[in-house]
Amino acid sequence: MLKATNLHKAYGNLEILKGVDLFVEKGEVVSIVGASGAGKSTLLHIAGTLDKADQGSLIIDGTDVRSLNPKRLSAFRNSRIGFIFQFHHLLPEFNAIENVCIPAYIANKSKKEAEKNASELLEMLGLKDRMTHKPTELSGGEQQRVAVARALINRPAIIFADEPSGNLDSTNAKELHKLFFDLRNHFGQTFVVVTHNEELAGMADRELLMKDGKIVGVEQLTRIVTG
Ligand code: ADP
Ligand code: ADP
Repeated sequence: MLKATNLHKAYGNLEILKGVDLFVEKGEVVSIVGASGAGKSTLLHIAGTLDKADQGSLIIDGTDVRSLNPKRLSAFRNSRIGFIFQFHHLLPEFNAIENVCIPAYIANKSKKEAEKNASELLEMLGLKDRMTHKPTELSGGEQQRVAVARALINRPAIIFADEPSGNLDSTNAKELHKLFFDLRNHFGQTFVVVTHNEELAGMADRELLMKDGKIVGVEQLTRIVTG
């Protein structure tokens, strides 16, 4: 699903990624853990095509990302990649279902189709009674689940989550990470989740340890069966 090879990235003289390989299978939940400053976010942004590596190759869902011009890249990103961030970035003036529909509209889906998919997803995420609530009327955990639905609406091949539970209490955090497994089991969705929390990092099929711009350890936590 994801094949990133020998990624290098520097900001000025500061080398942030020092040759990272990241391979993720379809339907796999992979966590990346490591101290602050290890380069986790940088890696996630590059693997998610939000930022460019100085060197290295990146293939997502069979597409060589470097071969896409900017217009095709943004269409590819919107349709094939989902993002979840620490702060949900929901638009405050729109309610839950409207927020979830936005990527579908960008992908030229009709209002009817977008709303149907969005309401089914929100229902599945336990937010049936929250669809017309504005973000400020939702709890932190609910807001983050709306952001998860928004990430899923275009049925992306892969979802990148950067400290998705960084703003949640530990109960909500664990529930969110458990949800990634549920969604994987239901949709066969692939997740790459960055966290600095060891316990949450353990809620994955495979845990990668990042240190000083490199992946220095791998722990296979479960053995997944992909179809
Ligand atoms: P982590 O997510 O593991 O905490 P980051 O990838 O956010 O690590 O950051 C790694 C290093 O890269 C940090 O020292 C950070 O200051 C630096 N860095 C990240 N983004 C930029 C940027 N746009 N310009 C300069 N330095 C950056
Ligand atoms: P059903 O309950 O009819 O079998 P699914 O459980 O497959 O339907 O899907 C439930 C909802 O999730 C539908 O809105 C569907 O469009 C949406 N959906 C299906 N596959 C995915 C996917 N891979 N990622 C995100 N959403 C999906």
